[in-house]
Amino acid sequence: MSIFALIDCNNFYASCERVFQPKLNKKPLIVLSNNDGCVIARSQEAKKLGISMGVPVFKIKNIIQKHSINTFSSNYALYGDMSSRVMSILAEKCPDIEIYSIDECFLDLESITNDPVKWCKKIRQTIFKWVGIPVSIGIGPTKTLAKVANKIAKSDITTKGVFSLHNTNDVEIDMVLQNIHIEDVWGIGRQWSKMLHINKIFNALELKKSSEIWIRKKMGITGLRTLKEIKGIPCHRLELEPIQSKSVRCSRTFGKAVGEKEKVFDAIRLFVQIAASKIRKKKLACRAIQVFVSTDRFNKNIEQYSNSAVSTLITPTSDSIVLVLEARRIFNRLWKDRYLYRKGGVLLLDLFPKQTIIPGFFPDTKKENYQLMQAIDKINEKFGRNCLELGIKSKKSEWKMKQHNVSSKFTTRWKDIIKVSAN
Ligand SMILES: [Mg+2]
Repeated sequence: MSIFALIDCNNFYASCERVFQPKLNKKPLIVLSNNDGCVIARSQEAKKLGISMGVPVFKIKNIIQKHSINTFSSNYALYGDMSSRVMSILAEKCPDIEIYSIDECFLDLESITNDPVKWCKKIRQTIFKWVGIPVSIGIGPTKTLAKVANKIAKSDITTKGVFSLHNTNDVEIDMVLQNIHIEDVWGIGRQWSKMLHINKIFNALELKKSSEIWIRKKMGITGLRTLKEIKGIPCHRLELEPIQSKSVRCSRTFGKAVGEKEKVFDAIRLFVQIAASKIRKKKLACRAIQVFVSTDRFNKNIEQYSNSAVSTLITPTSDSIVLVLEARRIFNRLWKDRYLYRKGGVLLLDLFPKQTIIPGFFPDTKKENYQLMQAIDKINEKFGRNCLELGIKSKKSEWKMKQHNVSSKFTTRWKDIIKVSAN
């Protein structure tokens, strides 16, 4: 029998910002989405001030000023690196790990300990000591119950960050389930909870007590699995192999609307290179590329236009030069003057491992520039993303994101590393 543990970093992005600026401990802090638009992470103190998730920043200007809330632009280089530090500690201590998101993972503790609570308390301390990130851990006989336990670990301070439903009797489990809103059950979501509310199922215990046949009829096999998992019957295993994504996307909302063709293509050209370097890192190649552009659909005062097109490649590739040329052809077809563009992006589609590519019958005349790409990737890795790019950059990139208060890349860029003075 598996013993599932769900490890979830507390207020992850906010916690990352704090690791390198301990003066922000106990102070309200928020992190904003791309272009500094909405709130995507809040420290506990900011939550207490009533700032909700996803709220546009202009709506809370007054609260920010009144309580001098520390406001950060998102710094994904930092969050990604901190995430991999946390995950690698866990992977080293427990071989059965499923990384579920940037700040969450499942473990199966069955083969490594008889006392999961003790083990989790210790790993929690280790993570905090080594990386500086606080985590909450829920333990249960199924993934869904581990998720429930995690909620308790996070919200109830007496648990000190670890809560278990493993080897717990039904009476106690039911007491916990009674206090879990149905929409907070893993896999239920907003849509199902609406339907369940109508049928007078408001919490996880009421779900547990409902008929399997009825749930199967209303919610299909996925719903039935959730019900069984709530009852303690495991239906979801650990996904040990990361699911291979079929596409890689790079797109941005521009910092402001752009009307000039070459300036918009500057952005597209960079997006192709970012996406291409991502697939090269995973040793993949793509068989097709999509480009899209769009005006600001939220601005009712301008004329709207958006369009996208796909092009299939004769030989699958991860070569930025080939892909930029293809993107250019697509872009020329999509482009229309007289509009103000606010968004653009690129998708590399139909990805698969490079080794399995069979050369086409008519080999592509453009031979891949393997070594050149390797050199570009190495230089960018060392000196910062996009420090080396194809093409001639316009002097001013009008499309660049608005990021007024982004913290340093403390862990991934040499010049941003923290200096400690001796005195
Ligand atoms: Mg989290």
